Amino acid sequence: MDNGPKPRKLEPGMTASPLTPGQRLDAVRERIARAAAESGRATADIRLLAASKTFSAAVVRDLAVCGQREFGENYVQEALEKQRELRDMPLEWHFIGPIQSNKTRPIAEHFSWVHSIDRLKIAERLSAQRPAGSPPLQVCIELNVSGEASKGGVSMNELQELADRVATLPGLTLRGLMAIPAPAPGLAEQRAAFRQVRAAFDALVRHGHALDTLSMGMSGDLEAAILEGATIVRVGTALFGERVHLV
Ligand SMILES: *Cc1c(COP(=O)(O)O)cnc(C)c1O
Repeated sequence: MDNGPKPRKLEPGMTASPLTPGQRLDAVRERIARAAAESGRATADIRLLAASKTFSAAVVRDLAVCGQREFGENYVQEALEKQRELRDMPLEWHFIGPIQSNKTRPIAEHFSWVHSIDRLKIAERLSAQRPAGSPPLQVCIELNVSGEASKGGVSMNELQELADRVATLPGLTLRGLMAIPAPAPGLAEQRAAFRQVRAAFDALVRHGHALDTLSMGMSGDLEAAILEGATIVRVGTALFGERVHLV
């Protein structure tokens, strides 16, 4: 008989990381601080958004107790359940996943930010469905920087027209751009993709848009993103461990 400790079976929503939530949070904050210092920027100008898709409300709570306040979610139903379980915590919720038009109402009602605006119809619905008593929904347009047809986001060609339209919608405040470049092996390649996002952002500002947000950089490339001007990094794996089921 083998009476040794049984390996814990990992269920969706649990995390396999041997570090404590506080240690993982410190490590990510350290990476952000180092990249900020290297680029001559203030650490306080870069916000950490914890991308918590697939992780349970209990796991989110453990990180929130360590001081993390902003969480990004990709799936409406999953997010609403977590928000309900965590309503005693002062958290800010960002929607960062693809948006189907039949899901805009709960997003408009239950989130502070949306990073993944990629067509006018979605923006119009979110604006119309934003509750009258709430501040405008803070939004970013998702830019498809790698030109991959399978990926979300608008092309460079469509960006300015969409930005001009979104900026007129009363229920929304256009804050900037979000991008998820294709994974690249080295820092130079990663920086090149983020630099394109930054250039598109600068062009919109020159065109008259008052923007302050570049949502770019994830666990594998947040340093490159910060070096190119990211103001929000969206980090999942480095904070929570590997996701058990693929998304
Ligand atoms: C999951 C996700 C992230 C986080 O990715 P990691 O590589 O796990 O850090 C960031 N942004 C979006 C839109 C995501 O869906």
